[in-house]
Amino acid sequence: MVWNIGKSILGTGDTRVDVEREADVIFAAAFIGATLFQNDRKGGRAWRVDMEPNSDIDKNLDARTADDRASMRGLNDACSKVNQLVRTQLARDEGGVVWGLTPTFGRGGMIQAGEGAQREYAKVNPTYAKTAFSYLSAAQRAAKDGQRADEMYIGRGAYCGLVVDDDGNAVSAMSTIRTTLNENTPDIGERWRPPADADVRAAQYPRDKDDATWGLIGGVALQDILAQQGMRFYPQSGGMPVSPNKHTDIVGYTHGMIRCICETVRIGQGTAFEMSIGVDTFKLASCMSCSSFMMANGVDASSTHLGRGESWSPYYGSQSHNPSYHADKMSIDDAIRHCNSRYTAFMHQCLRNGVAAMANQPSWVNEKHRGALAKLELILAQRSTAQNTVARDLFLDAMTYHKSDLLRLNSALVYGSGARPSCDASYDWCQNRSTGPDIKGTWESWVNPHTDEEVRALHTPPDPLLKQ
Ligand SMILES: [Zn+2]
Repeated sequence: MVWNIGKSILGTGDTRVDVEREADVIFAAAFIGATLFQNDRKGGRAWRVDMEPNSDIDKNLDARTADDRASMRGLNDACSKVNQLVRTQLARDEGGVVWGLTPTFGRGGMIQAGEGAQREYAKVNPTYAKTAFSYLSAAQRAAKDGQRADEMYIGRGAYCGLVVDDDGNAVSAMSTIRTTLNENTPDIGERWRPPADADVRAAQYPRDKDDATWGLIGGVALQDILAQQGMRFYPQSGGMPVSPNKHTDIVGYTHGMIRCICETVRIGQGTAFEMSIGVDTFKLASCMSCSSFMMANGVDASSTHLGRGESWSPYYGSQSHNPSYHADKMSIDDAIRHCNSRYTAFMHQCLRNGVAAMANQPSWVNEKHRGALAKLELILAQRSTAQNTVARDLFLDAMTYHKSDLLRLNSALVYGSGARPSCDASYDWCQNRSTGPDIKGTWESWVNPHTDEEVRALHTPPDPLLKQ
């Protein structure tokens, strides 16, 4: 299919700012749609998203506390605005979204896919989980040819997906891969590749505007470091990654959880888990993009965050797949198609429902974003169906403009007129209570839970199990 090579995703303008507003609106619509889906599934009860207390090595306790409070304020505002839209759509003053803190914060904790996962996880011996963390995070073999010999990526944002079969055995592990996509990639649909002179390229890649393939995380120089940290690049030819072509390609990242869900479908059993590994990622929550894919496939994330899902991508092929020893219930390529088609239909529904909720309360949509919303509504109405990939591809395009998901929400939505009960800036959606002169909001009273010493320990690599 011929791709969109305009200067923005929806065609509302030619500058970076136009792209940013379009991406904000697309993400906000998807999030509101996912919230409506969750409310329906939970019989009207609210859906919870989580944030992670700051654990930056270069910040002291006061700085970490200030950072947490700012995130909490932002998350709370996003809940108020989303709840205004969602509750108006549902015509009742319950449901919507609330927030909390990411669960089990420590090495070897896991994110679980599906309700059965909670039960399964209870069987996992915490000592084994810690051993797995050490095994997967430690560099056991030296890097060769610029690729770490072990398959696990351990750098920033590192999660390792695990598949545990119905007998409780961990049978496969897969982490995030970088993949290069173009018009010839099977089932790719219609994606957006901004032209060489697009303003947004210079803005996103200030040092490499002429060299970076669109979608790349970081700059060109970071790629060697990522490879050293174990990230695998695809497609490969003769065991070596094929270099991205900036004129024809875009770059996407398929997270370990997605690869593992496809494996559970291939073998017709088991549960996908995700474990944070390495020394720079501790959050035990799935990104919003993975969470959507999981909802679409009937396995909810145990926790969802609104951090970043930069250039998030589903699986388009099985070249990188690391299958377990279990036999095929269906081929891996069929499993990928099966999961992707459910995801595609889900994104169509989410975007349509989200856009309807936003259009219904225009004063709660940022004035500067209303043009993008109108254009999105038009494109969805004219071209998107549950069977095609139009809505999915617009969402994926939005994720190639790199920005935190929480900021996208708070950019697209504002406090408008006619607030429903609780949907103003003073309600605390973490503790579910009104604040006032005597009752502080969580964002005012919170203190970061880690000592400076604990933060240093978190960032120290574990001892390798096998001495070199
Ligand atoms: Zn993810």
